[in-house]
Amino acid sequence: MHGAELAGGIDGPEALAPLLAEVLGALRIGAEARGGPLPAGGPTGVALLLRDLLTPAALLPETGDPDALRELTRALAATAADPADPACAAHLHVPPLAVASAADLAVAALNPSLDSWDQAPGGTEIETAVVRLLAETVGFARPDAARGVFTTGGTESNLMALLLARDAVLAREFAVQGGAAIPAEAAGRLRIFSSATAHFSLARASGVLGLGTQAVVPIEVAEDGALDPRLLDWSLADARTAGHVPCCVVATAGTTDRGAVDPLRSIAAIARRHGVPLHVDAAYGGGALFSRTLAPLLDGLGLADTVGLDLHKLGWQPVAAGVLLAADAATLSPLEQRVAYLNPADDEEAGYTSLLGRSLRTTRRPDAFKVAVTLRTLGRSGLGAMVDRCHELARHAARVITSEPWLELVAQPVLTTVLFRYLPEAADGRGTGEDDRRVSDAVNAELRRRLLANGTAVVGRTELPGADGGVRLKLTLLNPHSTEADIDRLLALVVAAGAAVEHERAGRAGPAQHRPRKTQEKPA
Ligand SMILES: *Cc1c(COP(=O)(O)O)cnc(C)c1O
Repeated sequence: MHGAELAGGIDGPEALAPLLAEVLGALRIGAEARGGPLPAGGPTGVALLLRDLLTPAALLPETGDPDALRELTRALAATAADPADPACAAHLHVPPLAVASAADLAVAALNPSLDSWDQAPGGTEIETAVVRLLAETVGFARPDAARGVFTTGGTESNLMALLLARDAVLAREFAVQGGAAIPAEAAGRLRIFSSATAHFSLARASGVLGLGTQAVVPIEVAEDGALDPRLLDWSLADARTAGHVPCCVVATAGTTDRGAVDPLRSIAAIARRHGVPLHVDAAYGGGALFSRTLAPLLDGLGLADTVGLDLHKLGWQPVAAGVLLAADAATLSPLEQRVAYLNPADDEEAGYTSLLGRSLRTTRRPDAFKVAVTLRTLGRSGLGAMVDRCHELARHAARVITSEPWLELVAQPVLTTVLFRYLPEAADGRGTGEDDRRVSDAVNAELRRRLLANGTAVVGRTELPGADGGVRLKLTLLNPHSTEADIDRLLALVVAAGAAVEHERAGRAGPAQHRPRKTQEKPA
């Protein structure tokens, strides 16, 4: 029966080799067919390209189709948004390192699962060692006392961190033991403190954990986008006065839009003074630890009780490679599970340690393996150079935006993201502020969709709060192989798309053309 060969075992590599050759060929052909960062034609075009492959009869034919792997891989590549293209720069969506993807294939072939020792003897050791190394890297005072676990990413790390904080505060202040319901006297009173620009997954986690999404108290950020520690201090004091119970302070090391890093050392001191655990969401900024230049931004990270890292961001891993670290092993105790068929006590006592009790998941891939391969292949300096290079590209983009009359920079980049907007001709300060904003929002939103529809660029879009806020474009630069010329080209595409959108909105015929505007004429 074709396709029923197995990936593992001594014969696994032999079964895989021809299939890999097929996959690699199809990846190339698909990428060539795409011819850019994403397929042209927008959602309708993509649906059309995939239509014949996705009918019920094509998805599950009565008899198997030996060309399935080739055809579907080709289609996947042809319809991908490919972060290896320098013009694909919207999200924290990295081009994975080939060495990491290859390592991941080894995992996919052997299929270890970390929920019990007997499904992953080596995998268990590898994850434990990588976690130990990362605990040291974040600067925990006693890395030997630290524990951690690989997660699917920042979302799961945040959920787990808040779960651990919730259970700790319920045990400490309400004598609630392991997993019992939230008692009436605690209901609606637990609060989580984070900056107003912290990741949305915190509010969702708070909801999932039965604290309500409103339990997350948003603290205003300072001019630089980072949490203002004095406001945090006041907020924590106010909460007690109001009868609330502070459960966790969450600092962000690298906000998703601006890359802003909260002042970790001052926040840690405040959290300690109020007796509240500190979780640092370093999903994005954690990668700065590899860079000698940028690591100082994370000063104080090791003072946290828990830290979330995403190596599928500034670590260039294929998804997923999240990590949750706890400075003290005891912090993870609410996750412990004793399951007769996975980790019986006598097995554990005999040294057959299972990682089941570190995770909310049961079956779990050893994502630590590709990380181990990557760290050793590149070394700290190799990864650091990649982080530095992306930071340099972001600074270059900021310079180009500053000197380009049709673009306006929001702020100097902290890590590798650049926020900016296209300045429409029609929004040059001659109308009311509100008109200008409406036009600017519409043109920026439309020009981004135009680039997507043409298949020429994937640029991010977000919104800034406040009177001067509104729609902004975002470059998230995570491709260390991009060049300055690539960035120049990408920004030129944005300007040209903006001109085309304005041209259309004005109902003008013929090719879009800008009237000349000088830098000094940029509206203030
Ligand atoms: C990306 C990100 C997350 C979410 O992480 P996932 O890996 O997508 O689950 C959480 N927090 C921050 C700051 C992030 O940048």
